[in-house]
Amino acid sequence: MRTRYRPLPWQLHTVCSTVVAVLCVLVPAGLLHDALFSCVSLSAAVATAVGTRLHRPQRASAWWTLTAGLLAWALGDITYAVCYTWLDWQDFPNVPDLFYVLAYPLIAVAMLRMARQARPGADREGVIDASILAVGFGLLSWTFLVRPALAELPQDLPAGLVALAYPVGDVVVLAMLVRVFAAAGHGSRAFGLMAGAASTMLLADALWQWADAYTTNDATWVDGVFVVSYVLWGAAALHPSMRRLSDPSPSSRHEFSTLRLVVLTAASLLAPGTLALQLALGLPPEGWAVVVSSAVLFVLVVARMAALLGRLREQTALLGDLARTDPLTGLLNRRSADAELERLRTRARHEGSALVVALLDLDHFKAFNDTLGHPAGDRLLVGAASAWTAALRGSGVQLARWGGEEFLLVSCGLGADRVEHLLTGLRAVVPEGQTFSAGLARWDGHEDAVHLVARADQALYAAKHAGRDCTRTAPAPALDVEGPARRAG
Ligand code: GH3
Ligand code: MG
Ligand code: MG
Repeated sequence: MRTRYRPLPWQLHTVCSTVVAVLCVLVPAGLLHDALFSCVSLSAAVATAVGTRLHRPQRASAWWTLTAGLLAWALGDITYAVCYTWLDWQDFPNVPDLFYVLAYPLIAVAMLRMARQARPGADREGVIDASILAVGFGLLSWTFLVRPALAELPQDLPAGLVALAYPVGDVVVLAMLVRVFAAAGHGSRAFGLMAGAASTMLLADALWQWADAYTTNDATWVDGVFVVSYVLWGAAALHPSMRRLSDPSPSSRHEFSTLRLVVLTAASLLAPGTLALQLALGLPPEGWAVVVSSAVLFVLVVARMAALLGRLREQTALLGDLARTDPLTGLLNRRSADAELERLRTRARHEGSALVVALLDLDHFKAFNDTLGHPAGDRLLVGAASAWTAALRGSGVQLARWGGEEFLLVSCGLGADRVEHLLTGLRAVVPEGQTFSAGLARWDGHEDAVHLVARADQALYAAKHAGRDCTRTAPAPALDVEGPARRAG
């Protein structure tokens, strides 16, 4: 039996709203055009509300704020049609301006909430990146949209402020869009649709302001760009992947990608670029705007560098720790034990002080593992390491994991008998009643670290041989010591 194809809500919405959008573009300016335009605009708000109810994203507040923003925008479109087209009431500012100006902060707050959810905690780098783009595009907008628009307006303050609210709103929404990009940065369909919707909306708004400032013809064609953004908003909210949009994203996504670098470089170059364009076009240069925005951009770029340097420092410290320590017990690992031994040997030579090493090896550890399991063996290693670390605290003695169930103790400044006494203290704190054997060797003032540890190893072998749970001290090295001899097993 053939199953009937049932379109998903987001597909249904996209097809229907696209049909109305195309009709809207085909119908010339007038009441019918405005009615179709308002329908598509309202459908974006309705689809966002339906999508939020349908998919129930975990933290829905961002989506409800977006719904409110798009509803305000749709009310702006509807009242625009009523006031300007139907009633032919040409005043500025007018009723629709109230709704449009309200829509910007709502949409911006919705995006900020999405960014915050995707990346909880302080996102200093995201804020700086968003600010760099906002300043760059803010200058462009000021130079080519705001100034010409302000020049056209009658000199009254309310009209000036409302006219200014549009480009400022665009720049703020752009900054928030960048924050969402920086924070979420994942490739879900809903994310792509939403980014497309917001960018198209900003583009349409800029085109509208540009047409208003520079052309006297009818700018109904810009509606064709607006409707694309409305269709995309609705599709984004109805797409099932919207639920994942503000999920915390893996931190690996936050790397400083090449794309980010290119975008930030381009945005930083907008200031000199604007000046260059004005000079090339023979326009009066916006000197102060360029000076102020360049200065702010410099500071932001330096702040970005400082943030990156801070991260580099953190990562270097983390890598250093990882390279130095044993992941299971947190003690120094063999590599750093070697370095530490070498350092203390130099110190002992300079100071003429005693250098003593001891190799500790848990007794019958294989049997412990075999009886209680490997994880229990791991816990014993961790428990022994932390108990010994606590017991040795303040003694100036270094403890490292030499390998497997063997540990190396290095002391500079204490005599062999003092170290042997410390070892007795360590015996008392081994968890689970376990025992260890130890081999102790005192540096002869000449031999290298490899020979010194080899002698401790031989003493350890003697301790095992003597029945375990005891310490043996290596005799002073023979003068003709050959290479280090490793005990068998
Ligand atoms: P002896 O008293 O002679 O030292 O006997 P032993 O069983 O302790 O020594 P042996 O060398 O025969 O076995 C060491 C065991 O230590 C074998 C190995 O599985 C275990 N081991 C080594 N590293 C780890 C580890 O990281 N975790 C656990 N659970 N076991 C480990
Ligand atoms: Mg061993
Ligand atoms: Mg052992």
